[in-house]
Amino acid sequence: MKTIGLIGGMSWESSQTYYRLINQGVRDALGGLHSARLVMYSVDFAEIETLQHQGDWEATATILAKAAGALEAAGADFMVLCTNTMHKVAEQIEQAVSIPLLHIADATASVLRSAGVTSVGLLGTRFTMEQAFYRDRLEQQGIRVLIPDESQRERVHGVIYDELCLGQIRDDSRQVYLDIVASLAERGAQGVILGCTEIGLLIQATDTEIALYDTTRIHAEQAVRVALTDKPAD
Ligand code: GLU
Repeated sequence: MKTIGLIGGMSWESSQTYYRLINQGVRDALGGLHSARLVMYSVDFAEIETLQHQGDWEATATILAKAAGALEAAGADFMVLCTNTMHKVAEQIEQAVSIPLLHIADATASVLRSAGVTSVGLLGTRFTMEQAFYRDRLEQQGIRVLIPDESQRERVHGVIYDELCLGQIRDDSRQVYLDIVASLAERGAQGVILGCTEIGLLIQATDTEIALYDTTRIHAEQAVRVALTDKPAD
């Protein structure tokens, strides 16, 4: 089994979901008391969040590149960055080390393509919904991406930082999210990407008829598959 390197803490509320899903996946595959071989570098999210909102992405890249180096030194064979938003600096992280990074948008695109989805809604932070780094990666793989309108995006973003990253799960926010999911489906989305690793704490597949693609789950499942194959992680 390969050693998984998790770059976590963004927020730790979702990192614990990754930790649980990865260990459950390894146990399901190997049985008994098997669990994942992994190391995690967990950052102080307050520092990252301040830099994000100041637009200082280079400084966030420096912090995460250092985390990547520490994971490599600790014996990780590949890396999983436990946040969609910070894939904005995925390239800088990859350049800092010689182990590969499993890109969350690629993992998601691969699931969407297997499901035959060509038009999808995207929920996430404003950075993920509005900037090119994430949407372009999906669109390059032939998937049309629909995002919520301006006021909906503001609401989705606010719930992530003011509630979900603080561990607050509210029924009224769940309803807001489900209404936005429904409006994306009305505009032609065949399903909706939960493109922020905390959203699965608020809404799940059982809450709606519309197909939801939870990036945390997809990414964790891919990490397990890569950890358990003999092939190099690339
Ligand atoms: N975990 C979130 C994401 O997947 C948001 C926190 C962050 O900005 O990293 O985008």
